[in-house]
Amino acid sequence: DAPPVQPDLALKRRHRHFASPQKHYYAHPPQIERGYREHLFDTTGRAYLDMVNNVATVGHGHPRLAMAAKRQWSLLNTNSRFHYQAVADFSEQLASLAPEGLDTVFLVNSGSEAVDLAIRLAWAASGKRNIASLLEAYHGWTVASDAVSTSLADNPRALETRPSWVHPVTAPNSYRGEFRGPESTSAYVAAVERALMAMDERGEGLAGFIAESVFGNAGGILLPPGYLQAVYPMIRARGGLCIADEVQVGYGRLGHYFWGFEEQGVVPDIITIAKGMGNGQPLGAVITSRAVAEAFEQDGYFFASAGGSPVSCAIGMTVLDIMRDENLVQNAREVGDFLKEKLEDLANQHPLVGIVHGMGLYLGLEFVRDRESREPATHETAAICERLQSLGIIMQPTGDHLNVLKIKPPLCLDYESANFFVAMLDKVLSEGW
Ligand code: PMP
Repeated sequence: DAPPVQPDLALKRRHRHFASPQKHYYAHPPQIERGYREHLFDTTGRAYLDMVNNVATVGHGHPRLAMAAKRQWSLLNTNSRFHYQAVADFSEQLASLAPEGLDTVFLVNSGSEAVDLAIRLAWAASGKRNIASLLEAYHGWTVASDAVSTSLADNPRALETRPSWVHPVTAPNSYRGEFRGPESTSAYVAAVERALMAMDERGEGLAGFIAESVFGNAGGILLPPGYLQAVYPMIRARGGLCIADEVQVGYGRLGHYFWGFEEQGVVPDIITIAKGMGNGQPLGAVITSRAVAEAFEQDGYFFASAGGSPVSCAIGMTVLDIMRDENLVQNAREVGDFLKEKLEDLANQHPLVGIVHGMGLYLGLEFVRDRESREPATHETAAICERLQSLGIIMQPTGDHLNVLKIKPPLCLDYESANFFVAMLDKVLSEGW
């Protein structure tokens, strides 16, 4: 047998051949080779608690999922131009989970593809071009999904390089945004209205509005109460379509709701999902109405070679089966609420914690140097993540200031792991910052 590859050699080889825009998380990343539930194991056998992976919804290395993939691979894998039962079953299941009227499904391979397609659907159905999006958002890497992404952490030049059809509106971040506090909804809604009226005055039409249902890239921040309920009608009054990007929060992660947009009490015209729906299998979907899907036919037919393949459908359906059988939405609610409470206790003890954002197993812990000025504790957050790594926890920062811990573990996170995470965080924060 060949001698085992040393982690540093593998990293060197990665740096030589794996294109550099694809970053890795850590200065000295562990080389991982195995996963189980919310745990990862490196080549030395060391265990890490994975508190960041919102793709592995049902957990790493789930035997039932592995069996389903193996079974389907050995039976058949082809594309959706052929007729097989799995594509009917999975589309029907997704449509039945979506709100009434959203009964038509496109199956693709990623969140970026889903968002790209959603934008093209809005263009086709409205006959217009302009899309309003939120500042600080991230929606993907393909041309259109990247165009509506203005996250400065991902691209410091984002604002200078957006195409003219993209109209970003103020990020509705009631903690550190332009308007603050629980009463800020109307100010944020008015900001959207001003942007739309400016478009009206220029005689430009509106194709749609895209927003995450919970502001993920900014740190798992819940949108101000009633925000989408006020914004969606303003979009629709102009003939635009409302796109809910549920790639991070859909579905089940909030625990209290299956879909993220339910938290805002709205029903979108187009839903995009990916990430957790395939537990790591390249799988994404756009769910919309038949009328919107049919409007797209004027642009020709739609075909994604691997989208909706028998293997992808089998995996997508098995993820849903596991979520149901293992009560993972309920777990996200119960363990998520417990974790949020514990993190709020930490906030009472450690002044570096500004606020705990989010809901269920979609939380953000925001660090500030001063609670009054809310100066972002960017360097401290990076150092805390490095320190947590040394204590066996995988955690990373997010937000334009990279000062929010993104806490979005597999939905099977148990109480023991939640307690371990809080204890280690408490230890690190007690070391003085
Ligand atoms: N939308 C959101 C909200 C996302 O967080 C992401 C990925 N981080 C995407 C879209 C793009 O998904 P993917 O990486 O699967 O292309």
